Amino acid sequence: MARKLTGKVVIATHNPGKLREMQELLAPHGLTAVSAGELGLPEPDETGATFAENARIKALAAARAADLPAMADDSGICVAALDGAPGIYSARWGGPEKDFGQAMQKVEAGLRERDAFEPDQRHAWFISALCVAWPDGHTEDFEGRVDGALVWPPRGDAGFGYDPMFLPDGHARTFGEMSAEEKHGLPPHGLGLSHRARAFLLLESACLS
Ligand code: IMP
Repeated sequence: MARKLTGKVVIATHNPGKLREMQELLAPHGLTAVSAGELGLPEPDETGATFAENARIKALAAARAADLPAMADDSGICVAALDGAPGIYSARWGGPEKDFGQAMQKVEAGLRERDAFEPDQRHAWFISALCVAWPDGHTEDFEGRVDGALVWPPRGDAGFGYDPMFLPDGHARTFGEMSAEEKHGLPPHGLGLSHRARAFLLLESACLS
C-alpha cells in the first residue's frame, strides 16, 4: 500500500512550466503545491544513471531541505537505433541555448548515419519518471512511457523539446501538432497519452486516491 500525499507538497523544479502543470494536476486533490524555486532550495546535481534515479535524487533533496513531502520528475526521449540516446541527456543535447531544433537535427543525423529511413527503424519512446519523497527518506516511484516513430522534417510548433519529430503510435499527428490536452490525453477524454500523463495517473491512483 503506497503512502498517501496530503496537505502541502514541494514540486522539486525550478522550471515554471513544469510547476504550473503539476499545480493544475494536484489542485483537484486539495493539495497545495509550492516550488523548490520559491523556497530557495538548491538544485542537486543529477548524477543518476537512470530517469528514476535522477527523479529520486531531486525529490529526496527537496523533501529533506523543506521538511515536507516533495515530488520530482525526470524525463527524456530514447531512440532505439541510437542505443537509447539521448536518454537522460535529452535536455543537454539542446546545449546551453536549449536549442531543440539543433538537438532534433543531431538525432536525425544519427538516424541517417545508420540508414534508418523507414518508420520501424525510427522507433523512439519518451519516459517520465516521477518520485514522491518524504523527509524520513520514504519514496514512491512511478514511470510512464509512450512509444512512437521519429519523422523528418519536424511537424508543428506546439509543445517543446523533441515534440515536433515524435509521432506517437496509432496517431497521425506529432506531439508538436497536438494541443496540450490532446498530448496528455487525460481522463475523462482519454486514458493518458503522454509519458508524463501516464506517470501522473499511476501516482494519482497510488498516492492521491
Ligand atoms: P528534464 O526532465 O527537465 O531533465 O528534461 C527532459 C528533456 O527531455 C527536456 O528538455 C526535453 O528536451 C525532453 N523532453 C521531456 N519530455 C518531453 C516532452 O513531453 N516533449 C518533448 N521533449 C521532452
